[in-house]
Amino acid sequence: MSLASVPVSQTPESKFREYLASRPKPQRFTEQQREMVEYVFAKHSHFEAEQLIDELKKAGKKVSRATIYRTLLKLVDAGLLRRIELPTGTVYDHDYGYPAHDHLVCEQCGTMIEFQSEQIEAVLRDVTAAHQFRGTAHTLVIRGTCAACNAARSVKRRMVM
Ligand SMILES: [Zn+2]
Ligand SMILES: [Zn+2]
Repeated sequence: MSLASVPVSQTPESKFREYLASRPKPQRFTEQQREMVEYVFAKHSHFEAEQLIDELKKAGKKVSRATIYRTLLKLVDAGLLRRIELPTGTVYDHDYGYPAHDHLVCEQCGTMIEFQSEQIEAVLRDVTAAHQFRGTAHTLVIRGTCAACNAARSVKRRMVM
């Protein structure tokens, strides 16, 4: 399940090209990077670096592990991806062409549920205003157990009794 995408003027690839070209020392957009950007933005998902390495390998893409790690850092810096730190590791999420949202993370099965809340946004605006602070980003992760895991757990409990 994913949220509705936000219309953007550029493709992720052209935004990334622009970022590379505007570096103090302009960088080349390589074929490996093109394959990786295309794969990452083909579908919305939350993924870990190691998972992406496995998937690219399975898809027959020849992108080296070092390139993947380096490019992930650049994609975050370019505003295309954002990092979400979880107790289990770092997860990457689309940050371009996708609406601002927060996450519920199931500690049993690892599912990440996205949600948007106007009320939370309003509270954050009040808090930042009270501190004359100009907020640019926030990360909110609520950990716990999802509906499916809760249901499975109550079935197990019923069987024990
Ligand atoms: Zn779960
Ligand atoms: Zn997300």
